Amino acid sequence: MRCRHSFVTDGSYARFRGSKYVQSDIGDSYVRCKEFLDRGERVLFTGTPCQALGLRRFLAEFSVNRDRLTIVDFVCHGVPSQKVLDKYIKDAARRFGSAPTGLAFRHKRKRWQTALDTLLVVDGKTERDDDSPYMLGFMVNLFLRPSCRDCAAKGFRSGADVTIGDFWGGRQMLGRFDDGRGVSLVMVNTAKGEELFGRLAPFCDTIASSVGEACAFNHGIYASSGTNKRRGDFFAGLDSEPFGELYRKTAGKSATNMIRRFVPKEAVNWARYALWKARSALRKGNA
Ligand SMILES: Cc1cc2nc3c(=O)[nH]c(=O)nc-3n(C[C@H](O)[C@H](O)[C@H](O)COP(=O)(O)OP(=O)(O)OC[C@H]3O[C@@H](n4cnc5c(N)ncnc54)[C@H](O)[C@@H]3O)c2cc1C
Ligand code: SF4
Repeated sequence: MRCRHSFVTDGSYARFRGSKYVQSDIGDSYVRCKEFLDRGERVLFTGTPCQALGLRRFLAEFSVNRDRLTIVDFVCHGVPSQKVLDKYIKDAARRFGSAPTGLAFRHKRKRWQTALDTLLVVDGKTERDDDSPYMLGFMVNLFLRPSCRDCAAKGFRSGADVTIGDFWGGRQMLGRFDDGRGVSLVMVNTAKGEELFGRLAPFCDTIASSVGEACAFNHGIYASSGTNKRRGDFFAGLDSEPFGELYRKTAGKSATNMIRRFVPKEAVNWARYALWKARSALRKGNA
């Protein structure tokens, strides 16, 4: 199972939906994008911030007119390599008795904030991998790619017109607007992005917030994810040990995971919010 960049020209965008927490194969997308733009067609490109930055540099190299190009990227925690996903799928095939043919990350079984279950399609049936070791390991940076350690495209450096993500800490920052079913973050970075969002906004429930509020619970907007100190041990065992066991052995008992398991997310969020308020007040006092 792979995540490949592709394109549609007939409006069937729905097939691209869903976060795929793995390195996507960019293929010949940059070249196709250039061809469309050279023909004067409108293009909407979506991808990680580094893919967005790469596209802009590629098009600049060939002096392509970008007036008809809109780029949407997302707040990016980082990506695991295909090898890690392959291993997870292989182990899932063993556990569920047959090779999965479909995969969806972050099923909202509990609440949106703690959606770490993975859905797998096996023999035409949907199987749920609750608190999937793949997602748990992803969250604690156990197997992110080395390039994500010091990301050159984060922090609005990708040049994307719009950046989408999750609005973490919605209950604290936005009050009742957060109904617990998920609040998306849309950061409008350019005039082109503003025009696009202006056309979509009437179809959405929206509330304005500051960049500071959006960043308070989402450091992935501006900072690279760290590296789990057991990453080396994880990769040392990747070829020989079952995925779930390897995860449990290396990061299963990490402090972050213990907090996640035993302390309700909202309690952590309220504590973070109190800290953020205190820091903001201090900054205002010093200004
Ligand atoms: C690897 C990864 C890490 C993320 N980390 C964070 C984070 O730390 N904080 C945060 O707030 N949000 C993060 N997100 C974004 C978040 O998961 C949602 O994608 C975002 O909130 C938009 O949701 P959506 O349902 O509107 O769009 P989605 O349907 O999730 O996707 C938006 C677009 O991104 C494309 N896309 C999906 N996966 C990939 C991929 N692997 N490579 C390239 N393009 C892809 C989709 O095909 C689609 O065109 C991450 C997403 C990914 C894929
Ligand atoms: S963290 Fe940076 S380098 Fe890693 S995939 Fe995301 S944008 Fe690319």
